[in-house]
Amino acid sequence: MELEVDGIEQAVSTGALPGWERVDHLVGSAYERYRSRTAGAVADYIPALARVDPDLFGVAVADVGGRVHTIGAAGHDFSIQSISKAFVYALVCDALGHTVVADRVGVDNTGFGFNSVIAIELNNGHPMNPMVNAGALATTALVPGETPAAQWEYIRTGVSRFAGRFLELDGDVYQSEMLTNQRNKAIARLLESYGRITIDPLDVVDVYTRQCSLLVNARDLAIMGATLADGGVNPISGQQVVSPHVCQDTLSVLAAAGMYQRSGEWLYEIGLPAKSGVAGGIVAVAPGKGAIGTFSPRLDEAGNSVRGQRATAYLSRTLGLNVFASAATTRHLPQP
Ligand code: GLU
Repeated sequence: MELEVDGIEQAVSTGALPGWERVDHLVGSAYERYRSRTAGAVADYIPALARVDPDLFGVAVADVGGRVHTIGAAGHDFSIQSISKAFVYALVCDALGHTVVADRVGVDNTGFGFNSVIAIELNNGHPMNPMVNAGALATTALVPGETPAAQWEYIRTGVSRFAGRFLELDGDVYQSEMLTNQRNKAIARLLESYGRITIDPLDVVDVYTRQCSLLVNARDLAIMGATLADGGVNPISGQQVVSPHVCQDTLSVLAAAGMYQRSGEWLYEIGLPAKSGVAGGIVAVAPGKGAIGTFSPRLDEAGNSVRGQRATAYLSRTLGLNVFASAATTRHLPQP
Protein backbone atom coordinates (compact mmCIF):
# COMPACT_ATOMS: atom_id res chain seq x y z
CA MET A 1 0.00 0.00 0.00
CA GLU A 2 2.53 2.62 -1.04
CA LEU A 3 1.97 4.31 -4.36
CA GLU A 4 -0.55 7.09 -4.44
CA VAL A 5 -2.03 8.69 -7.58
CA ASP A 6 -5.11 10.91 -7.78
CA GLY A 7 -5.42 10.52 -4.00
CA ILE A 8 -6.15 6.82 -4.37
CA GLU A 9 -3.99 4.38 -2.49
CA GLN A 10 -2.69 1.50 -4.62
CA ALA A 11 -3.44 -1.96 -3.31
CA VAL A 12 -1.29 -4.82 -4.61
CA SER A 13 -2.68 -8.30 -4.95
CA THR A 14 -1.76 -11.45 -6.76
CA GLY A 15 -4.62 -13.56 -5.43
CA ALA A 16 -8.39 -13.29 -5.51
CA LEU A 17 -10.52 -10.17 -5.13
CA PRO A 18 -11.04 -8.91 -1.56
CA GLY A 19 -14.15 -10.09 0.34
CA TRP A 20 -17.74 -9.32 -0.66
CA GLU A 21 -18.25 -6.32 1.61
CA ARG A 22 -15.02 -4.62 0.64
CA VAL A 23 -15.75 -4.98 -3.11
CA ASP A 24 -19.31 -3.77 -2.57
CA HIS A 25 -18.04 -0.75 -0.66
CA LEU A 26 -15.45 0.11 -3.33
CA VAL A 27 -17.96 -0.22 -6.19
CA GLY A 28 -20.17 2.24 -4.27
CA SER A 29 -17.24 4.63 -3.71
CA ALA A 30 -16.27 4.51 -7.39
CA TYR A 31 -19.81 5.51 -8.29
CA GLU A 32 -20.12 8.30 -5.72
CA ARG A 33 -16.71 9.69 -6.50
CA TYR A 34 -17.42 10.27 -10.20
CA ARG A 35 -21.21 10.41 -10.54
CA SER A 36 -21.41 14.21 -10.78
CA ARG A 37 -18.70 14.59 -13.46
CA THR A 38 -20.07 15.93 -16.72
CA ALA A 39 -16.90 16.19 -18.84
CA GLY A 40 -16.94 14.72 -22.35
CA ALA A 41 -19.55 14.46 -25.11
CA VAL A 42 -21.93 11.76 -26.29
CA ALA A 43 -21.06 10.18 -29.67
CA ASP A 44 -23.28 11.54 -32.42
CA TYR A 45 -21.72 10.26 -35.65
CA ILE A 46 -24.26 7.44 -35.38
CA PRO A 47 -27.40 9.59 -34.99
CA ALA A 48 -29.29 7.09 -32.78
CA LEU A 49 -26.50 7.20 -30.18
CA ALA A 50 -26.98 10.94 -29.63
CA ARG A 51 -30.46 10.30 -28.18
CA VAL A 52 -29.13 8.71 -24.96
CA ASP A 53 -29.47 10.36 -21.52
CA PRO A 54 -25.87 11.53 -20.97
CA ASP A 55 -26.19 11.37 -17.18
CA LEU A 56 -26.64 7.59 -17.05
CA PHE A 57 -23.83 5.97 -15.07
CA GLY A 58 -23.49 2.35 -14.02
CA VAL A 59 -20.68 0.28 -12.54
CA ALA A 60 -20.44 -3.50 -12.11
CA VAL A 61 -17.77 -5.90 -10.88
CA ALA A 62 -18.05 -9.66 -11.41
CA ASP A 63 -15.62 -12.17 -9.97
CA VAL A 64 -14.72 -15.59 -11.31
CA GLY A 65 -16.78 -17.17 -8.52
CA GLY A 66 -19.94 -15.64 -10.00
CA ARG A 67 -20.48 -12.83 -7.48
CA VAL A 68 -21.67 -9.63 -9.16
CA HIS A 69 -21.71 -6.16 -7.57
CA THR A 70 -23.65 -3.40 -9.31
CA ILE A 71 -24.59 0.21 -8.72
CA GLY A 72 -26.41 2.98 -10.59
CA ALA A 73 -27.54 2.32 -14.17
CA ALA A 74 -25.70 -1.04 -14.34
CA GLY A 75 -28.83 -2.66 -15.73
CA HIS A 76 -29.43 -0.07 -18.45
CA ASP A 77 -29.07 -1.58 -21.94
CA PHE A 78 -26.95 0.16 -24.57
CA SER A 79 -25.34 -0.97 -27.83
CA ILE A 80 -22.10 -2.85 -27.31
CA GLN A 81 -20.40 -1.17 -30.33
CA SER A 82 -16.65 -1.76 -30.49
CA ILE A 83 -16.63 -3.94 -27.39
CA SER A 84 -18.13 -6.63 -29.64
CA LYS A 85 -14.78 -6.72 -31.45
CA ALA A 86 -13.17 -8.41 -28.44
CA PHE A 87 -15.77 -11.15 -28.15
CA VAL A 88 -16.15 -11.82 -31.87
CA TYR A 89 -12.36 -12.04 -32.07
CA ALA A 90 -12.41 -14.62 -29.26
CA LEU A 91 -15.10 -16.65 -31.06
CA VAL A 92 -13.18 -16.59 -34.36
CA CYS A 93 -9.91 -17.54 -32.63
CA ASP A 94 -11.71 -20.40 -30.95
CA ALA A 95 -13.11 -21.59 -34.30
CA LEU A 96 -10.04 -21.05 -36.53
CA GLY A 97 -7.06 -21.15 -34.18
CA HIS A 98 -4.40 -18.79 -32.98
CA THR A 99 -2.16 -18.69 -36.05
CA VAL A 100 -4.76 -18.12 -38.78
CA VAL A 101 -6.22 -15.09 -37.06
CA ALA A 102 -2.85 -13.67 -35.97
CA ASP A 103 -1.64 -13.86 -39.61
CA ARG A 104 -4.80 -12.64 -41.30
CA VAL A 105 -5.69 -9.86 -38.88
CA GLY A 106 -2.57 -9.05 -36.83
CA VAL A 107 -2.03 -8.04 -33.22
CA ASP A 108 -0.18 -4.70 -33.36
CA ASN A 109 -1.40 -1.24 -32.45
CA THR A 110 -1.77 1.05 -35.48
CA GLY A 111 -1.29 4.34 -33.63
CA PHE A 112 -4.18 5.69 -35.72
CA GLY A 113 -7.89 6.18 -35.08
CA PHE A 114 -10.28 3.21 -34.95
CA ASN A 115 -11.65 3.86 -38.45
CA SER A 116 -8.38 4.88 -40.12
CA VAL A 117 -7.89 4.29 -43.83
CA ILE A 118 -4.32 5.64 -43.74
CA ALA A 119 -3.32 2.86 -41.34
CA ILE A 120 -4.43 0.28 -43.92
CA GLU A 121 -2.55 1.98 -46.74
CA LEU A 122 0.62 2.43 -44.68
CA ASN A 123 0.60 -1.26 -43.85
CA ASN A 124 0.06 -2.49 -47.41
CA GLY A 125 -3.49 -3.53 -46.76
CA HIS A 126 -2.80 -5.38 -43.51
CA PRO A 127 -5.58 -4.63 -41.02
CA MET A 128 -3.03 -4.67 -38.11
CA ASN A 129 -5.29 -5.71 -35.21
CA PRO A 130 -8.85 -6.86 -34.53
CA MET A 131 -9.76 -3.88 -32.35
CA VAL A 132 -9.70 -1.25 -35.10
CA ASN A 133 -12.47 -1.32 -37.69
CA ALA A 134 -10.26 -2.75 -40.45
CA GLY A 135 -9.21 -5.71 -38.29
CA ALA A 136 -12.68 -6.13 -36.87
CA LEU A 137 -14.21 -6.27 -40.37
CA ALA A 138 -11.53 -8.78 -41.44
CA THR A 139 -12.32 -10.83 -38.32
CA THR A 140 -16.09 -10.75 -38.88
CA ALA A 141 -15.43 -11.92 -42.47
CA LEU A 142 -13.82 -15.06 -40.96
CA VAL A 143 -16.80 -15.96 -38.75
CA PRO A 144 -18.00 -19.50 -39.58
CA GLY A 145 -21.21 -19.62 -41.66
CA GLU A 146 -22.13 -20.08 -45.32
CA THR A 147 -24.35 -16.98 -45.45
CA PRO A 148 -24.40 -13.58 -43.70
CA ALA A 149 -27.47 -14.77 -41.76
CA ALA A 150 -25.60 -17.84 -40.53
CA GLN A 151 -22.58 -15.73 -39.54
CA TRP A 152 -24.82 -13.31 -37.66
CA GLU A 153 -26.46 -16.21 -35.85
CA TYR A 154 -23.04 -17.56 -34.90
CA ILE A 155 -22.03 -14.18 -33.47
CA ARG A 156 -25.27 -13.52 -31.66
CA THR A 157 -25.28 -16.96 -30.03
CA GLY A 158 -21.60 -16.79 -29.13
CA VAL A 159 -21.63 -13.26 -27.67
CA SER A 160 -24.82 -14.17 -25.77
CA ARG A 161 -22.99 -17.13 -24.24
CA PHE A 162 -20.36 -14.74 -22.89
CA ALA A 163 -23.16 -12.71 -21.27
CA GLY A 164 -25.06 -15.77 -20.07
CA ARG A 165 -28.32 -14.42 -21.51
CA PHE A 166 -29.81 -13.93 -24.97
CA LEU A 167 -28.77 -10.52 -26.28
CA GLU A 168 -31.23 -8.46 -28.33
CA LEU A 169 -30.39 -6.30 -31.33
CA ASP A 170 -31.10 -2.55 -31.09
CA GLY A 171 -32.90 -2.09 -34.42
CA ASP A 172 -32.76 1.73 -34.27
CA VAL A 173 -29.01 1.82 -33.72
CA TYR A 174 -28.48 -0.77 -36.46
CA GLN A 175 -30.62 1.17 -38.99
CA SER A 176 -29.06 4.46 -38.01
CA GLU A 177 -25.51 3.16 -38.44
CA MET A 178 -26.34 1.44 -41.75
CA LEU A 179 -27.37 4.82 -43.14
CA THR A 180 -24.21 6.56 -41.99
CA ASN A 181 -21.44 3.92 -42.22
CA GLN A 182 -20.05 4.83 -45.65
CA ARG A 183 -16.59 4.85 -44.11
CA ASN A 184 -16.82 1.25 -42.87
CA LYS A 185 -18.10 0.24 -46.32
CA ALA A 186 -15.08 1.96 -47.86
CA ILE A 187 -12.72 0.19 -45.43
CA ALA A 188 -14.29 -3.17 -46.29
CA ARG A 189 -13.92 -2.50 -50.03
CA LEU A 190 -10.30 -1.45 -49.49
CA LEU A 191 -9.62 -4.67 -47.59
CA GLU A 192 -11.27 -6.60 -50.43
CA SER A 193 -8.92 -4.89 -52.89
CA TYR A 194 -5.99 -6.16 -50.82
CA GLY A 195 -7.44 -9.69 -50.67
CA ARG A 196 -8.02 -9.42 -46.91
CA ILE A 197 -11.76 -9.92 -47.29
CA THR A 198 -12.73 -12.67 -49.70
CA ILE A 199 -16.53 -12.63 -49.30
CA ASP A 200 -18.94 -9.78 -50.20
CA PRO A 201 -17.57 -6.78 -48.26
CA LEU A 202 -20.98 -5.13 -47.90
CA ASP A 203 -22.37 -8.30 -46.30
CA VAL A 204 -19.45 -8.17 -43.88
CA VAL A 205 -20.28 -4.57 -42.98
CA ASP A 206 -23.91 -5.55 -42.42
CA VAL A 207 -23.00 -8.39 -40.04
CA TYR A 208 -20.42 -6.19 -38.29
CA THR A 209 -23.00 -3.41 -37.82
CA ARG A 210 -25.41 -5.93 -36.31
CA GLN A 211 -22.78 -7.19 -33.88
CA CYS A 212 -22.12 -3.55 -32.82
CA SER A 213 -25.88 -3.07 -32.23
CA LEU A 214 -26.23 -5.90 -29.70
CA LEU A 215 -27.70 -4.59 -26.45
CA VAL A 216 -25.73 -5.15 -23.25
CA ASN A 217 -25.50 -3.44 -19.88
CA ALA A 218 -22.62 -2.84 -17.47
CA ARG A 219 -23.54 -5.99 -15.53
CA ASP A 220 -23.34 -8.06 -18.74
CA LEU A 221 -19.96 -6.53 -19.55
CA ALA A 222 -18.62 -7.51 -16.12
CA ILE A 223 -19.80 -11.10 -16.60
CA MET A 224 -18.49 -11.24 -20.19
CA GLY A 225 -15.14 -9.94 -18.96
CA ALA A 226 -15.12 -12.36 -16.03
CA THR A 227 -15.55 -15.17 -18.58
CA LEU A 228 -12.33 -14.03 -20.26
CA ALA A 229 -10.75 -13.83 -16.77
CA ASP A 230 -11.83 -17.37 -15.96
CA GLY A 231 -10.26 -19.41 -18.77
CA GLY A 232 -13.38 -19.01 -20.92
CA VAL A 233 -15.91 -20.35 -18.39
CA ASN A 234 -18.90 -18.08 -17.77
CA PRO A 235 -18.93 -17.77 -13.95
CA ILE A 236 -22.74 -17.60 -13.83
CA SER A 237 -23.79 -20.25 -16.35
CA GLY A 238 -20.74 -22.47 -15.82
CA GLN A 239 -20.56 -22.89 -19.62
CA GLN A 240 -17.17 -23.14 -21.35
CA VAL A 241 -17.56 -20.45 -24.02
CA VAL A 242 -14.02 -20.41 -25.46
CA SER A 243 -10.74 -22.09 -24.54
CA PRO A 244 -8.31 -20.69 -21.94
CA HIS A 245 -5.75 -20.05 -24.69
CA VAL A 246 -8.23 -17.94 -26.63
CA CYS A 247 -8.81 -15.84 -23.49
CA GLN A 248 -5.08 -15.25 -23.26
CA ASP A 249 -4.87 -14.22 -26.93
CA THR A 250 -7.85 -11.92 -26.61
CA LEU A 251 -6.60 -10.21 -23.47
CA SER A 252 -3.17 -9.59 -24.96
CA VAL A 253 -4.76 -7.94 -28.00
CA LEU A 254 -6.92 -5.81 -25.70
CA ALA A 255 -3.86 -4.73 -23.74
CA ALA A 256 -2.16 -3.60 -26.97
CA ALA A 257 -5.11 -1.96 -28.71
CA GLY A 258 -8.36 -2.07 -26.72
CA MET A 259 -8.63 1.61 -25.83
CA TYR A 260 -8.17 3.25 -29.24
CA GLN A 261 -5.12 5.54 -29.50
CA ARG A 262 -4.99 5.72 -25.69
CA SER A 263 -4.15 2.05 -25.23
CA GLY A 264 -0.59 2.68 -24.04
CA GLU A 265 -1.62 5.43 -21.66
CA TRP A 266 -4.44 3.28 -20.33
CA LEU A 267 -2.13 0.34 -19.67
CA TYR A 268 0.36 2.67 -17.99
CA GLU A 269 -2.21 4.16 -15.67
CA ILE A 270 -4.69 1.34 -15.11
CA GLY A 271 -2.77 -1.81 -15.98
CA LEU A 272 -5.65 -3.95 -17.25
CA PRO A 273 -6.61 -5.28 -20.69
CA ALA A 274 -9.81 -3.45 -21.61
CA LYS A 275 -12.12 -2.52 -24.48
CA SER A 276 -14.37 0.44 -24.87
CA GLY A 277 -17.15 1.32 -27.28
CA VAL A 278 -18.63 4.59 -28.52
CA ALA A 279 -21.97 4.07 -26.80
CA GLY A 280 -20.09 4.53 -23.50
CA GLY A 281 -19.30 1.02 -22.29
CA ILE A 282 -15.95 -0.23 -21.01
CA VAL A 283 -14.98 -3.73 -19.93
CA ALA A 284 -11.68 -4.23 -18.08
CA VAL A 285 -10.43 -7.72 -17.24
CA ALA A 286 -8.29 -8.88 -14.32
CA PRO A 287 -7.08 -12.36 -15.39
CA GLY A 288 -7.87 -15.03 -12.80
CA LYS A 289 -9.91 -12.61 -10.69
CA GLY A 290 -12.82 -10.98 -12.49
CA ALA A 291 -13.83 -7.94 -14.50
CA ILE A 292 -15.23 -4.44 -14.29
CA GLY A 293 -18.05 -3.24 -16.54
CA THR A 294 -18.98 0.44 -16.72
CA PHE A 295 -21.46 2.52 -18.67
CA SER A 296 -21.45 6.30 -19.02
CA PRO A 297 -22.11 7.84 -22.45
CA ARG A 298 -19.94 10.98 -22.35
CA LEU A 299 -16.67 10.28 -24.18
CA ASP A 300 -13.24 11.90 -24.41
CA GLU A 301 -11.71 12.80 -27.80
CA ALA A 302 -10.36 9.27 -28.25
CA GLY A 303 -13.88 7.81 -27.85
CA ASN A 304 -13.46 6.38 -24.33
CA SER A 305 -16.10 7.04 -21.66
CA VAL A 306 -14.80 9.69 -19.25
CA ARG A 307 -16.47 8.47 -16.07
CA GLY A 308 -16.02 4.84 -17.06
CA GLN A 309 -12.27 5.33 -17.27
CA ARG A 310 -12.13 7.09 -13.89
CA ALA A 311 -14.29 4.49 -12.15
CA THR A 312 -12.24 1.65 -13.66
CA ALA A 313 -8.98 3.35 -12.65
CA TYR A 314 -10.27 3.71 -9.10
CA LEU A 315 -11.34 0.08 -8.88
CA SER A 316 -8.15 -1.20 -10.48
CA ARG A 317 -6.10 0.65 -7.87
CA THR A 318 -8.20 -0.09 -4.81
CA LEU A 319 -8.95 -3.72 -5.65
CA GLY A 320 -5.30 -4.34 -6.48
CA LEU A 321 -5.98 -5.42 -10.06
CA ASN A 322 -3.15 -3.75 -12.02
CA VAL A 323 -1.41 -6.72 -13.65
CA PHE A 324 1.96 -4.95 -13.49
CA ALA A 325 1.85 -4.01 -9.79
CA SER A 326 3.85 -6.00 -7.28
CA ALA A 327 5.18 -5.50 -3.78
CA ALA A 328 8.54 -6.71 -2.48
CA THR A 329 8.14 -10.05 -0.78
CA THR A 330 9.35 -10.20 2.81
CA ARG A 331 11.96 -12.83 2.00
CA HIS A 332 14.04 -10.10 0.28
CA LEU A 333 13.85 -7.66 3.19
CA PRO A 334 16.94 -7.30 5.41
CA GLN A 335 16.70 -9.65 8.38
CA PRO A 336 16.78 -7.98 11.81
N1 GLU B 1 -20.06 0.58 -34.90
C1 GLU B 1 -19.06 1.59 -34.63
C2 GLU B 1 -18.24 1.85 -35.90
O1 GLU B 1 -17.86 0.93 -36.55
C3 GLU B 1 -18.20 1.15 -33.49
C4 GLU B 1 -17.25 2.20 -33.10
C5 GLU B 1 -16.69 2.08 -31.74
O2 GLU B 1 -17.38 1.70 -30.77
O3 GLU B 1 -15.50 2.39 -31.61
O4 GLU B 1 -18.00 2.96 -36.25
